[in-house]
Amino acid sequence: MALHLYAATTSQGKLRDFRTAAAAHSLAIDPLPALDTIPAPEEDGTTFVANATLKAVYYSRFAPGELVLADDSGLEVDALNGAPGVRSARFAADAGLIDSPDANDNTDVWNNMLLLQRLAGVPEAERTARYRCVLVVARDGVALQTADGTVEGLILDAPRGTGGFGYDPLFYLPELDRSMAELDLDTKLMLSHRGRAIAALLARLHA
Ligand code: IMP
Repeated sequence: MALHLYAATTSQGKLRDFRTAAAAHSLAIDPLPALDTIPAPEEDGTTFVANATLKAVYYSRFAPGELVLADDSGLEVDALNGAPGVRSARFAADAGLIDSPDANDNTDVWNNMLLLQRLAGVPEAERTARYRCVLVVARDGVALQTADGTVEGLILDAPRGTGGFGYDPLFYLPELDRSMAELDLDTKLMLSHRGRAIAALLARLHA
């Protein structure tokens, strides 16, 4: 029988990634019912695993008996000592450029602009970075499974492509000569941090 999970995310980009990857693994993923009415927990962990765990544990209490999936993900840039990292969504907000990531439709634009600014003058060889994704499944307030995935790349000095979301137009995959925003969804999911984390999670859930 196909496994069923509720995803605790309001990000349409992430939800689309989850559902596309899950369909290939006989797993059904639906958004957690009434997620928009549940106050979001403070994501105050200092690691991806801490934040994903606190979200999965918290949201699973709103769907008794169900498996609830939460993720935390972000971009680590070596020349910035791993920043923005767990603060990826709030990069521009933390710098005071915008009020709050949720209240601003142009958050991705501001985040990307700040990233380019912080890396101005950094040569290509030193623009190494990775996306990281941690997934946690919980039920009734207890974390049951954790999985993670990464993908390595370089930060471009100008955006390329119109697909994806977040930092995708600046995230370049040298072996494909494409930015993440230039990939079709199937290719992106095959090699992305989120696709790899989902594959690892499914292997564990099925085991
Ligand atoms: P989270 O919602 O706390 O996991 O924040 C993740 C942030 O990292 C997003 O808002 C994006 O800025 C960035 N991010 C994570 N995954 C991706 C991706 O697949 N593409 C582009 N940006 C991503």
